[in-house]
Amino acid sequence: MDFNEAFYKDAYLKEADAVVISCEPCKKGYRAVLSDTIFYPEGGGQPSDRGYLVTGDGTRVVVKDVKRNAEDMVELFLESPVSPGDPVHQVIDWDFRFSLMQNHSGEHIVSGLINREYGFENVGFHMSDVITIDISGELRREQLLDIEKKANRAVWKNIPVDIIYPDQHGLGSLNYRSKKELSGKVRLVNIEDTDSCACCGLHVRNTGEIGLIKILSSIRYKGGVRLEMVCGEKALLDYERKLDSITEIKNALSVKPEEVTEAVKHVLEESAEKSGRIALLNNRYFDMRTAELQGVDDIIFTVEKDLDAQEIRKLCDRLNRSGKAGTSVVLAPADMKEASGEACLYVIGSTKHDLKAAAKTLNEVLKGRGGGSKEMIQGTFYADAESIKRAVYEAFGG
Ligand SMILES: [Zn+2]
Repeated sequence: MDFNEAFYKDAYLKEADAVVISCEPCKKGYRAVLSDTIFYPEGGGQPSDRGYLVTGDGTRVVVKDVKRNAEDMVELFLESPVSPGDPVHQVIDWDFRFSLMQNHSGEHIVSGLINREYGFENVGFHMSDVITIDISGELRREQLLDIEKKANRAVWKNIPVDIIYPDQHGLGSLNYRSKKELSGKVRLVNIEDTDSCACCGLHVRNTGEIGLIKILSSIRYKGGVRLEMVCGEKALLDYERKLDSITEIKNALSVKPEEVTEAVKHVLEESAEKSGRIALLNNRYFDMRTAELQGVDDIIFTVEKDLDAQEIRKLCDRLNRSGKAGTSVVLAPADMKEASGEACLYVIGSTKHDLKAAAKTLNEVLKGRGGGSKEMIQGTFYADAESIKRAVYEAFGG
């Protein structure tokens, strides 16, 4: 963290001038090294910065990615080339970066507090739309709520976030979190009474800038828990989205916000009860139809206007089992807004014919699709009921 790394000297640089040291074509476009860069390279769980360069003649060059090269120098991956020796003006996507800083600092506070209170380690960390943290031990909901409250109190205290580089001697006497045994120059991110952690990422100056820390979810993961959390503006947006959902549900059900959960449970219970009643009435209807429908030439043919695909299957099954005819055909006119002409859902059951073979012919004649077993086939015929009846009698009649 020496040569060309301006972001470590000041993480709040949104724009800065530099001189192009080198630029050469590569798979991703062009790779360039600048005399000093404010673009953070992906590392320590923090994604690389976005932004662009402005060349001397005012051309904008998009920075597609930022990484460290084999010599540990920060390299920018550019859309178009820049000329070595030329000055460039760097502009980073500050909203994106500041959000990452808020989230990264918030993550340190939560991981630090969990470590201090329960002794568990952060064993995996990823930042994208939300932060994911893998914790080495299990935590209950109440424990997480307590951590979240303490984390937000640390935010409201507006504690300075200090970056320190202790020497080897000093490092030995310090208590800090680290994923691996460290030697050489170590960068510690220190938040008084809250956390101390070896980290190469970028952070806010004071915890107050994090704004808000919200743990969104917790699932069991590899003997511990995987947490999802958001901080700052992302937490505000998350709150807004959730409030919008609650408001929509509350308005749809005409209840107060605090009654939403109970009201939804009630609607689901009512819906289940109605489904039960519909099934009961359907069964009565199927019995009635089975009693009154008669076969002609060993085929029962019926068009059922208000039944769906599942229901005509049940009726067909019932007719088949009644033994009143060798073959039963149940149709339901399909609601085909996009299709030109008529269409019918069909279910055909038979104890006499091999329907698997018949399906091919019927689908061909009636421009249909679908299939099934030897005993029962179902699908859609793109034809009217009369044409279907003719085709069916041709196939199975006599
Ligand atoms: Zn970190």
